[in-house]
Amino acid sequence: MSSMDYREMCTCYTCGKVAHYKEMHCCHYISRRYLPTRYHEKNTKPGCPYCNVYLHGNLDEYALRLVKEYGPEILEELNSLKHKILKLSTQDYEDLIDEYKDKLKSLDTQPALNEKSL
Ligand SMILES: [Zn+2]
Repeated sequence: MSSMDYREMCTCYTCGKVAHYKEMHCCHYISRRYLPTRYHEKNTKPGCPYCNVYLHGNLDEYALRLVKEYGPEILEELNSLKHKILKLSTQDYEDLIDEYKDKLKSLDTQPALNEKSL
């Protein structure tokens, strides 16, 4: 989490409250049920439980802060990414699975590859 400081404290993105990162939630602007933006860096910010649960993400404030941080295009950017999921076919998912399997495999074999290249 890039917004964490050396004491492992972090700041709520929407209200500014500071708390230990373990007490914080991962807050999404676009709902986490949309996979394309679920792990997107600009769509995941630390937030306090009050904002995330009681204020349902405090989205008015979230939007304002996103615009301040990334510019006004950000809301449209995230929104259009969210809709990408509707266009993902079974083949797309299979490709993604293969891609991550390959990545995992290359992690497993990396030390061996390094040895070979020495
Ligand atoms: Zn908060």
